Formats: sequence, structure tokens, C-alpha cells
Amino acid sequence: MLGSRVRTSFPLLMPLRQLGTATVRTGVASKESELMPATLAFQDPRAFQVKTPGELLRALGVFRLCSFPLLVNNCGTLMSIARRLLGKRGFSMFLRPTVYAQFVAGEDETEISQSMEKMSLLGLRPMLAVPIEEDLGESTGEKRYEDNMEAMLECVRMSHSNAWSKDPMMQLKITALLSPELCVKLTTLMAQQAYDLNLLVRAMDGESISFPGLDDNDNAHLLCGLRRLDKIAKASVDKVRVLVDAEYTYMNPALSLVTMVMMKKFNTDGAWIWNTYQCYLKESSSLIREAIDLSKKEGFCLGVKLVRGAYMDKERKLAEKEGRQSPIHNCWEDANDSYNGSLNTMLEVISEQPERYRIIVATHNEESVRLSAQRMEELGIDKEDGSVCFGQLLGMCDHVSLTLAKEGYAIYKSVPYGSVDDTLPYLVRRAQENRTVLQGIRKERDLLRQELRRRFRQKLGMATA
Ligand SMILES: Cc1cc2nc3c(=O)[nH]c(=O)nc-3n(C[C@H](O)[C@H](O)[C@H](O)COP(=O)(O)OP(=O)(O)OC[C@H]3O[C@@H](n4cnc5c(N)ncnc54)[C@H](O)[C@@H]3O)c2cc1C
Repeated sequence: MLGSRVRTSFPLLMPLRQLGTATVRTGVASKESELMPATLAFQDPRAFQVKTPGELLRALGVFRLCSFPLLVNNCGTLMSIARRLLGKRGFSMFLRPTVYAQFVAGEDETEISQSMEKMSLLGLRPMLAVPIEEDLGESTGEKRYEDNMEAMLECVRMSHSNAWSKDPMMQLKITALLSPELCVKLTTLMAQQAYDLNLLVRAMDGESISFPGLDDNDNAHLLCGLRRLDKIAKASVDKVRVLVDAEYTYMNPALSLVTMVMMKKFNTDGAWIWNTYQCYLKESSSLIREAIDLSKKEGFCLGVKLVRGAYMDKERKLAEKEGRQSPIHNCWEDANDSYNGSLNTMLEVISEQPERYRIIVATHNEESVRLSAQRMEELGIDKEDGSVCFGQLLGMCDHVSLTLAKEGYAIYKSVPYGSVDDTLPYLVRRAQENRTVLQGIRKERDLLRQELRRRFRQKLGMATA
């Protein structure tokens, strides 16, 4: 279990290039705290000064609930039982002030804007996410994808047309616009033949291309999907950076292909379309190197969202069921080395060409954040120019986000929005996918408690004075 693991694997002031992939797995905790930059120790409860007592109590309560594995693992079932028992209204009344308020920005533009304005005052930037997730067997026809496109276009508009929009980002799931079945089919075809980026760019421009290996229906759906992506990308360029999510390995190659097509078409002068790399995958470091090489060859700017990855259990189970090797690293330490190694690769290319490469260090892991900050300093990367930024989910690890903002780093919160019903499946998945993090947030809970105690004492002092 992650919570019980010693996570201190890097002597922090040693330059990364000297470390290679070797890590010290135990016994460096005290050394680390001696060496790390004091400002990024993430141990100051005053990071939460900006929160109201109600918000502190809510966060404590929600994190407490999330610390029960039985509850988190079965939260999908529990939620649907509660919804049936309480009815739509009762269920919404129960969730809105609690779990929903912790992890979701709101339902309509007024609510979302209020949350975003507050975040903006704290130096946090928005990365809006339309909570649509589809997997195999969930596809529901062209109309649904068109509706999803409208929701994404609305997200683009909202992201850039408000006072709180500072260099905004948004997340995009390709499977909300192109059926997961077709993505799987394309992935299989890509293993047999290379797809020409230029051909796909022409299809995106509206040319009626026939793709090898696809029947008429699939071909027509791919053309529609590419045009939907084209519309969203066109609306975003020069306004909002669109970060394409990584999903399952049985479809990721197809998702990367269409993302690269968008990059080729739209990232000529800057990184407006970004791809995500999941470092829990054994192949992740070679994928990043390939992307860097392709961007040089094709002449586009590359934006990278670096994550550890959210679908570990399902990937492992599937590989076991199909009798093949798991695509996931064998242990957390290997995934960690992979994350930090790819981070270093990207920081090095950014230091050489900050106008052509960008990265968002999307993690709640304090050590990776510190490592990144330290390496940025070594390489002379400006923390304010946005070529390197950080990302965490709304409602999680605020002590990390707020400290980074205070220290002048570009920091984004991934912010889902929508009705209770629309966001719940997304939240359940998030809770389950991130249970390793949620269970490991004892530190955030400790800091929240310290801040509450500090305020209580302050109040008492004032009352007795
Ligand atoms: C802004 C943002 C965007 C995101 N977008 C995506 C996305 O597009 N696609 C996606 O898949 N995820 C995405 N995620 C989720 C992310 O992948 C992580 O699951 C999550 O953030 C936890 O990792 P961590 O680095 O924060 O925490 P840590 O606690 O350092 O790491 C936990 C993670 O390590 C990995 N891990 C744990 N145990 C093992 C093990 N035994 N062997 C191998 N690996 C292990 C798992 O990935 C686990 O989630 C996103 C997260 C953020 C903050």
C-alpha cells in the first residue's frame, strides 16, 4: 500500500543527471528535510489561511471519509443506493455542501465563476474539465458526440472570456468525441501500418479521405470526429491550452495519433494542444523521446502533461486476463523513477527552447514537485514564464498548490464542473483512481487540523485579551 511506503527516494540537491535511475529507497528522510528548499517543505499550515473555518472542516471531513478503503472502493454502489433512498433532490442536498463542494467548481457559469475568482485571488489558474468519460460499450451514436463537442466549445468560451482567465487550460477526452471502439480499432491498425500525419491533417481540413483498414461507417465516424476536434482546436488557439487526457493502453496510440495531428496543424507558433504521458507505463520514457523527435521532424511545438497514471488496477487485471505482460511498471519506485526521469528529459529540452516545449507537472507528489523546482533553478528556467507549470486536482493537496502559488510558480487546478448527477460518475472514478493519493493525504489533514487549532487559539487569545 502506498500510504505505508517510504517515499523519499532522492537526495534533493544532487543534480538529477547524476542520479540516473538509481534511487535511495530508505533512510534519507531526515537528510532530505535538511537539504530541501525550506519554502517548498509544504509543512506550513498557514497555506490554509485563506480558507474559511467551514471550508477547513469540510475538507477534514471529506478526507476522513476518503481514508476508509472500504468506503472509497464501494463509493459507486453506495452513491447509487443513497440516490435511490434520498431521491434526486435529497441526494443533491446532501452532496452539494460536502463532497461535491470539495471537488467540483459548480453547476452553472455563475457558480463556476465564483469558485474561479476565488482561486484566481489565491494565484491559482483554471484548468476546466468537462466530466465526460466513455469506455468500451458505452458509445451512444453521433448525436451524443456532437453534444459533447458543444459542451467542449462552451468550456473553451468560459475558460478564456472571464476576468479569472489567466493563461487558461482545459482538459479534453478524445473518447468524448470519437468512439472508444474506433480508437481501439485504429490502435490495432497502427500496429500493422503507419498513419501519415499529413493525410489526417487533410481529413481534419474537410477532405473526404478513405483510410486504409476502415469500413465505410468507421471511416465516416473518424472524419466526423476529426472535424469535431478541428472545431475545438480552432476555437482554442491563442486563447486556451487544450490538454488531451491519456486513457487506456488499448486506445492510447490512437489518441496520441489524433493529438499529434492537432499539434501539427495548430502548434506552429506555440503549444496550444498538449498530450499526456502516463509514467506508470513501462514504455513512457521512450514515448516522450519519440514525441520530442517527432516534434522536431514535423516542426511543431510540444506540450506535455506528465502524470503517473490513473488506470493501474484495470490495466493490470486486463493484462493478467489476456495472459500478457503488464504494461505497468512492476512497483511504485520504478514508476517514480520513470516520472522523475521523463521530467528531467523535458526540463532539459525546455531549458534549450522554452518557446517550443512546455510541461505541466501534474502530480500531488511533493517530492516530484520539489525535484522539478530544484532542476528548474539549476537549468535557469524562469518559473513565471509558464514553460513549466504544476497541476493538481481541485480539492486535493491545496497545501502544495497554495505554497507553489505563493512562491510564484504557475500552478493550475483541474476543475470539473456540472450538475451533481453529471459529475458523480467522474468523481467516483477519481476517488477510486486516486485512492492511493487520497489515502496518503494524512499530511494535508494534519495541516488542516493545525490551522484550525491555530485559529481557535487566536480567537481564545483575543477573547481573553
Ligand atoms: C491535472 C491532472 C491531470 C491528470 N490527467 C490524467 C490523465 O490524462 N490520464 C491519467 O491516467 N491520469 C491523469 N491524472 C491522474 C494521475 O495520473 C495520477 O493518478 C494521480 O495524480 C496520482 O499520482 P500522483 O503523482 O499525484 O501521486 P503519487 O502518490 O506519487 O502516485 C500515485 C500513483 O503512482 C502509481 N502507482 C502507485 N502504486 C504503483 C505500483 N505499485 N506500481 C506502479 N505504479 C504505481 C499510480 O499511477 C498511482 O496513481 C491527472 C492528474 C492531475 C493532477
